[in-house]
Amino acid sequence: MPNYPTTGKVIIAGAGPGDPELLTLKALRYLQQADVVLADRLVSEQVLSQYVKSEAEIIAVGKQCRRGASTPQETINELMVEYALKGKLVVRLKGGDVSIFSNVLDELQALKDADIAYEIIPGVTAALGAAAYAGIPLTARQYSTAVRFLTFYRNEVINDQYWKDLAATDDTLVFYMSSETLDGVVANLLKHGISDEKLLAVVEQATTPQQQVDVTNLYSYAENWKGKTFLSPALVIIGKVVALHQQFAWIANSPTRETYFKPVAKLFTASTVATEKANQNASRA
Ligand code: SAH
Repeated sequence: MPNYPTTGKVIIAGAGPGDPELLTLKALRYLQQADVVLADRLVSEQVLSQYVKSEAEIIAVGKQCRRGASTPQETINELMVEYALKGKLVVRLKGGDVSIFSNVLDELQALKDADIAYEIIPGVTAALGAAAYAGIPLTARQYSTAVRFLTFYRNEVINDQYWKDLAATDDTLVFYMSSETLDGVVANLLKHGISDEKLLAVVEQATTPQQQVDVTNLYSYAENWKGKTFLSPALVIIGKVVALHQQFAWIANSPTRETYFKPVAKLFTASTVATEKANQNASRA
């Protein structure tokens, strides 16, 4: 076992997509040693309650932009730097993998600027968690030779030329942060004549006990799924490989529709922690 340092460092780690057992041993070991854990919303509460030592400070710094409740990136950067400068071992715990659709670049820059040592630990990204737990091999032989991780959370991210390419390719397409804009995804692909052999799956709360997988043909999407809304987080998979779900699914859909991850507003946010601390100090004085 390598000898992990225990002070003045930030560990940026992925917690995986939900199932606490998908955490890496390395992330687990650092969580057991951490003085401070700065956790995203899409991190299983069980990971925090079971693996972090009881004296450690856990600060929820979730983001949920569409809901308007969120910890500013600036605050997250400041907290990391502040605690590391105090000599603490800080774990910055992110949902899924650290490098896929996360603000890791901002955080790395803040650490570099403050000359703070860091390590990066990968995690199972939602696409891989969902693929495994839905029985959809993303690059199954004879179905697809590549996979693309995409997002369509706002219109500007994908231009018309690229939609044309996405409709034509046999690559499997995985859309993050796009269940609320799914009508747009489907409309753009249909506009460019995507093959009707490709299916669309939405995997809600992948790898958690609340996982649900729904599949539709793109051409019957409007009819089948009109007005359908999805529980967050949800991942969209499009391609021929989606047909394999029917054959290889090994988990039944959750019979209930409950949310596994808590909404940001209900969590202890960095600002509430700061306010509580100020109150405690004031009452002590
Ligand atoms: N860094 C994360 C992604 C963050 S972006 C990762 O590597 O997985 C947040 C988006 O990830 C969500 O909007 C959703 O599309 C997807 N996501 C994260 N966890 C998920 C889960 N358990 N089930 C389905 N989608 C998930």
